[in-house]
Amino acid sequence: MSQFNDYIEVKGARVHNLKNIDVTIPREKLVVITGLSGSGKSSLAFDTIYAEGQRRYIETFSAYARQFLGNLERPDVDKIDGLSPVIAIEQKTTSKSPRSTVGTITEIYDFLRLLYARAADAYSYETGEQMVSYNDEQIKDLILESYKGKRINILSPVVRSRKGHYRELFEQIAKQGFVKVRTDGDIVDIEKGMKLDRYKTHDIEIVIDRLKIDNTENDEKRLMESINTAMYHGEDVLMVIDQDTNEPRFFSRNLMCPSSGISYPNPEPNNFSFNSPKGACSNCNGIGELYVVNPKKLVPDESLSIKNGALAPHGPQKKSWIFKQFETIAQRFDFSLNDAWKDIPEDAKQIILYGGKDKFTVESKLLGVARDYKIDFEGVANFIESQYNSDSTSLTRWAKEYMDKVECPVCEGSRLRKESLYFKVDGKSIANLVNMDVVELGVWLDGLMDRLTSKQQQISAEIIKEIRSRVQFLLDVGLTYLSLNRSSKSLSGGEAQRIRLATQIGSQLVGVLYILDEPSIGLHQRDNEKLINSLIALRDVGNSVIVVEHDKDMIERADHVIDIGPFAGKHGGEIISQGTPKELLNKTH
Ligand SMILES: [Zn+2]
Repeated sequence: MSQFNDYIEVKGARVHNLKNIDVTIPREKLVVITGLSGSGKSSLAFDTIYAEGQRRYIETFSAYARQFLGNLERPDVDKIDGLSPVIAIEQKTTSKSPRSTVGTITEIYDFLRLLYARAADAYSYETGEQMVSYNDEQIKDLILESYKGKRINILSPVVRSRKGHYRELFEQIAKQGFVKVRTDGDIVDIEKGMKLDRYKTHDIEIVIDRLKIDNTENDEKRLMESINTAMYHGEDVLMVIDQDTNEPRFFSRNLMCPSSGISYPNPEPNNFSFNSPKGACSNCNGIGELYVVNPKKLVPDESLSIKNGALAPHGPQKKSWIFKQFETIAQRFDFSLNDAWKDIPEDAKQIILYGGKDKFTVESKLLGVARDYKIDFEGVANFIESQYNSDSTSLTRWAKEYMDKVECPVCEGSRLRKESLYFKVDGKSIANLVNMDVVELGVWLDGLMDRLTSKQQQISAEIIKEIRSRVQFLLDVGLTYLSLNRSSKSLSGGEAQRIRLATQIGSQLVGVLYILDEPSIGLHQRDNEKLINSLIALRDVGNSVIVVEHDKDMIERADHVIDIGPFAGKHGGEIISQGTPKELLNKTH
């Protein structure tokens, strides 16, 4: 190999306190740059080598693109040879978005979504039964088998649990040549002008055919035709009624609960994404948490009167529409704005906080006249909520002062729609998996293939392998205690750094120069050991790794150590010694 390929050569580096230094760094090795804090380690690793790598990367873009990216300033260095693409893995949290989790940044969640879309079994959230979908041929066979010798009706469901009188619908059905419908469980003839109670919810099915199942060839042909017609009018769903028992059963080309008839769309990865409308809980928009008004924060001191500012968002009395409303409410409920909040009647408190409408008349004995009053008040709590939902970030921030963050009651924090949680692999929903810590998840994955059906194995073997290896990378960097649903903004800088390291190992890039700052900070020895092994693995596949580090274990395992010495600031900035850890040890003794 040529000199060029074996080394990164830095000549005349003068960034910050670096004293015009030359340094030769072996490539495809684990190199530790050590020294006192302030000695110039980071100036060399990040502000010289990484900065120059970034600058060259941006120079590869067109002039047009560069005007948006901005040209990076060339670091103060004469030249750097042998530089490969540089990736810095620093100690900072990369995402502040509540939509970013350990699962999404490691891409493990993307593979889980794929697994669930392909291999999960769906269960009914109504009855817990497994959902089924059939093709028309299977439906025909099932009907022939289940209703042998019986009289049945075949129907097309057209309305399920919806309000309306449906007069036009009945006319339309009659025009298409059908004579009977089933409304709310009763089969009736369609009559002219027929309609239902518009304020009640109804179920309506068209009666497509009535037949006896005798298993003759003629029967089969007729049944097949009826299935086709029923599927057409019922939009891929049909209903069979046993005329003896009146028991309905649903058959669908989509996933469907055979008893209740509820159906799910055939799953796709987005049905399991809380960042997609197809998967996100609509109550919390896929955040899993909500802000709700806390009445204790609206009235932090119940001994205060409204006049003296009991209602914290509004403060003490001033001339305003809202205090006029409070006056009116006080008149209606016979209290005074000078009364302590705790002494105000409960009904009045309800209206003040949660709103209400009321009209009343007050007769003034003094003047001998009656005056009409009207209360139409939205309530302080609702007012806060509307401010929270406004487009203004400052109003939202203000409103939050009176609110608490709570788990979304609809999805129980899982962020997903109800039906998405009823798709299961090996009895577990995707929400169950992201709640596990990485160790548990690894154990579950290890035996998973054996517990799947051969069809599931076939479609998911590759996906499970991808998930398992990414989980292993997290275990390898010592992040055993994390769960995939942990939000990335709650991660410490060190945790975020190790996750980035794990994803880089997973990306299997080759020929990259990785630069890390003090990754061993805060790690127990056992985890530090794992971390060092991960860096060595990164090196062994053909990458260069430079670590800015004090840690003794890391230095001992390095291929090459560069010591910038015991002095900081203007007394530092020089290379004191470099070589293998052994060579350095010999020099100091
Ligand atoms: Zn929710």
